[in-house]
Amino acid sequence: MSAAERVRDSRRSIGQKRRDVFPPAAVPRPASAVPAGNNDTAPRTEIVAGPPSKKIRGDEPVCGWCNKLGHTVRSCAGPPGEDGTIAACALHNAAHCQSECHDARDQWDLGQKYWWLVASRANLPPLQYHERWENIAWEWTERMGGQCSEALPFTADFCRAIPNYRFAEYDYDCPSLKPLGYEKRTSSVAAFREWWANA
Ligand SMILES: [Zn+2]
Ligand SMILES: [Zn+2]
Repeated sequence: MSAAERVRDSRRSIGQKRRDVFPPAAVPRPASAVPAGNNDTAPRTEIVAGPPSKKIRGDEPVCGWCNKLGHTVRSCAGPPGEDGTIAACALHNAAHCQSECHDARDQWDLGQKYWWLVASRANLPPLQYHERWENIAWEWTERMGGQCSEALPFTADFCRAIPNYRFAEYDYDCPSLKPLGYEKRTSSVAAFREWWANA
């Protein structure tokens, strides 16, 4: 198998994994993955949701936010910064803030914003972004008629009060074993919508 074939193969399996956890119509993709003016012929199975992590030590990725091995910004549990958010880019697994990422800001449609900032951050501190994830989640759940990810990110307020030992104990292989905490108002779409409608 040639190097190009191997890349295509790994891309296909990444695309496949994402489809398992999110409706295909809303699978996000970077603009660079779609040839300009040729959208109709771009094969969907070749499209990936973001470039693979450039930071790799051995076989494992290195997180662009906390510098720990074995996960990327997308699933990073923190600890967050003083404002309760993670100011790094999940798309590139890099230290630049998500709202300062040229491939994200003003590029993402609602589905992509929902995927990166809400669905991928369930029960985790939110990524720092110029729009509130709560507004994005509200808009998306309106559009989907409530059919979406059951768990949501924690609010930044909640994250500022999480004790440090929780971040140290967090298990990336089994996040539900020792969760960072339990925030009732973001624990389900129904609870979130009731809270945010009155917030
Ligand atoms: Zn991390
Ligand atoms: Zn970026």
